[in-house]
Amino acid sequence: MPAAEIYLDWNATAPVHHAVIAAMAEALAETGNASSVHRAGRRARHRVEEARARVAALIGARPAQVVFTGSGTEANNLALSGTGRTVLVGAAEHASVLEAAPDAGRIPVDGSGRIDLAALESLVNAVARPALVSVMLANNETGVLNDVAAAAAIAHRAGALVHCDAVQAAGKIAIDMQALGVDLLSLSAHKLGGPQGVGALAVADAVDLRPLLRGGGQERGRRAGTEAVAAIHGFGTAAELAIAPAAAGMAELRDRLERALPEAAVLGTQAPRLPNTSCLAMPGVNADIQIMNFDLAGIALSAGSACSSGKIKASHVLAAMGVPPSLAASAIRVSLGPRTTEHEIDRFVEVWTALRARLAGARPVATAA
Ligand code: PLP
Repeated sequence: MPAAEIYLDWNATAPVHHAVIAAMAEALAETGNASSVHRAGRRARHRVEEARARVAALIGARPAQVVFTGSGTEANNLALSGTGRTVLVGAAEHASVLEAAPDAGRIPVDGSGRIDLAALESLVNAVARPALVSVMLANNETGVLNDVAAAAAIAHRAGALVHCDAVQAAGKIAIDMQALGVDLLSLSAHKLGGPQGVGALAVADAVDLRPLLRGGGQERGRRAGTEAVAAIHGFGTAAELAIAPAAAGMAELRDRLERALPEAAVLGTQAPRLPNTSCLAMPGVNADIQIMNFDLAGIALSAGSACSSGKIKASHVLAAMGVPPSLAASAIRVSLGPRTTEHEIDRFVEVWTALRARLAGARPVATAA
């Protein structure tokens, strides 16, 4: 990426930490299948198990509960299809949850973007068969945090299991699987400074999980396929570095940005949010136009969720919150990371203000210092 580029799309993927690059290069240079019994295999196995312990420590789980997968998407698919239960999902979940269980009942969210706990209670009590409830910890578009512990308590009272997609929360806020009270929890390495193409599903001991991928005994029979040793090692390294998230600094910069743009509609502010995410609408200017113009100005960011085709779809998250479609169409997602600087935020504010003046026909307004 050119030196001048300002990267404000950490929720799409975080820059790989330099320590992770070094650790992965070392692991890649070694030969060894973690299932082999010889010395090279044992060395690979050691790397995988060390990473498992580090990922477990990040979320307050035990190493034996962690199953490595090929992505957060795979972890979500494994969780949702692996229990054979009737599934209920939050209406604002990531596509990898919604589309993994297309027939699932939808739990509405309120205007602030949080799961409607009363609706969850009536839905989960109305399910005839044993249920699985899936509620994300942090929303990828708005950063809104669900009260997962409260949702889990309600679901458990009704005899349901609970899955939590914590892909966006990990590395940004502290996570404790026990305190959340969930039975399954998904992670993805590339959202926290690790490599793309590796994720994990933490599975509580009592959960009987059917594998999605068969044909090998790896991951205690829960995910067949030779372990991606170098990627898993990179994930473990990133997880260890992410144990103390630099949340305060990010929140300060995010708040500085929002304070400097009183003309922007910031969505999701009525709920607790991730420290790094701002869902920012520029009324009257479509998100794709904004993103193109920010890109020309050397600033990388996304509209809500960047879908794989690169096209911008209407946000189901904002629709579920009751945001009017015209306002939702003008919302972009600004997501910061621990390396984001004050200067970068001020430059973003300057470009946003100039864009609004040009595209929305508004007069420039003074920006905060
Ligand atoms: N869940 C959430 C909330 C996400 O934001 C993402 C990625 O954007 C995923 C799951 C999927 O993770 P991965 O990119 O590792 O497949």
